[in-house]
Amino acid sequence: MVETPLSEHDYLAMAMLDVSHHRRITREGMKEMRQLMMAVAGPGIKVYDHRTARKLVEVKTGIYQRQYSVCRNQCFCFAADPDGAECPYCLQPRYDDKGRSLDEFFY
Ligand SMILES: [Zn+2]
Repeated sequence: MVETPLSEHDYLAMAMLDVSHHRRITREGMKEMRQLMMAVAGPGIKVYDHRTARKLVEVKTGIYQRQYSVCRNQCFCFAADPDGAECPYCLQPRYDDKGRSLDEFFY
């Protein structure tokens, strides 16, 4: 047993995020791992999905991931021009026809 101030399910969630990041396991792969763990986890052990685990890390650490809209050609971050509709360098549009950013950057 690992000594940790975290609950078993919080520790498991953070460990799974760590493994997925360092081993570059896809979200689909992590979904399958979660299903396997849920099948064998003892009663009372929660196996969080990826989104819930990430939120847990944010709450526990106070470090939040930011999402920025960027040019699809990676030449401009719209944080510098929040109302901009096209890249000032390559003139590519920022949004698709449904109003979604064509690319995003997580920091
Ligand atoms: Zn551009």
